[in-house]
Amino acid sequence: MPKRFYPETRWSWVEIDLGALRRNTSEFKKAMRPGVRMMAVVKADAYGHGAVRCAKVLHSSGADQFAVATVDEGVALREGGVEWPILILSEPPVDCVETLLRYDIMPTVYTEEFALAYGECASSMNKVGDYHLAIDTGMNRIGVKPVDLLQFRHFIDFHRGLRCAGTFTHFATADVLDDWDFALQANRFKEACKALHEAGYELGLVHCDNTPATVMHPELDFDMCRVGIGLYGLQPCELTAPRIHLDPVMSVRARVTRVVNPEVNEGVSYGFTYRVPKKNIQIATIPVGYADGLSRALSNRMEVIVNGARCRQVGRICMDQCMIAVDVNTARAINPTPPVEYGDLVTLIGRDGDDEITIDKMAEALGTINYEVACRFGMRLEKMYV
Ligand SMILES: *Cc1c(COP(=O)(O)O)cnc(C)c1O
Repeated sequence: MPKRFYPETRWSWVEIDLGALRRNTSEFKKAMRPGVRMMAVVKADAYGHGAVRCAKVLHSSGADQFAVATVDEGVALREGGVEWPILILSEPPVDCVETLLRYDIMPTVYTEEFALAYGECASSMNKVGDYHLAIDTGMNRIGVKPVDLLQFRHFIDFHRGLRCAGTFTHFATADVLDDWDFALQANRFKEACKALHEAGYELGLVHCDNTPATVMHPELDFDMCRVGIGLYGLQPCELTAPRIHLDPVMSVRARVTRVVNPEVNEGVSYGFTYRVPKKNIQIATIPVGYADGLSRALSNRMEVIVNGARCRQVGRICMDQCMIAVDVNTARAINPTPPVEYGDLVTLIGRDGDDEITIDKMAEALGTINYEVACRFGMRLEKMYV
């Protein structure tokens, strides 16, 4: 009988530890001031962790609202049964206004054209369109500049189809200690909110903290914090690590689909960038490739854990598969590498026994940040929730 494992259709998967997701959410609730709301950022399919499933767990652990990047992400949440407030973190194309209102998804607003089209559409549907106003306090990405704020609100506020449900900004340098640029953005935000308030405008929920600012700057919690990466157990920077304990939520695992014992000097994978250097090297294939988020740039530069031992990935990482080398020569050594068999469990990311390979380490090897590595593994691999 051939060996059978779950997932039946492909022996590679992303494992999502929902207990860790819950614990991380509680840690953030504890770090936030009492009464402050949590907007859980679940954009990019919850940073690769699966937005619908994660959103439900996040809500049951204390998240009040959800943030996504695109209209499609918002619709997917609604169709998956997520009933709580959803905000799109930038202003979507104007053609989306009807979809937004139909699905009750709040847009971020910073152009008059969009705001008025959204208000018009809301009125025609006998609704009031909630939106959040973005203020560009210095990052130069999105938002209304502080000097234009009062005029902007004056121009759109006559519209009865519009309601400001929130006012926010986003920091460019929240991950730097005692940063002058951060302080400047924070001050501009406070002054802008004060000016709007004094002019009689409704601000809705005021928010600016992302993960690092939630950890480092509770004085800037205002009404709500927008927490993303930290919920998934990943530290946004070295500064936050000593201040909040987080457990990684994502592991990436696979099973060996083939084992061969090639002759010395035989090549492995495209271009033969690896050649078998000696006798008794097993070459095992695992069904994970760059289309699954395992960057091809890691070819011959990463390790996996198999049967409690570290093994090198060898040869070029292909689109859907890659190979690892198991050195059976060490089988009689003090720390033996056991021979590998068809169906053996391989850990690419995560813990196996006492050993662990972190997303942070992989990101470092790639010259990128943990955010990107996590997102990429969400692309194609099946998710298993544990
Ligand atoms: C992505 C994003 C966040 C979350 O950032 P983290 O560093 O993951 O906490 C918050 N606010 C905005 C506007 C974002 O785009």
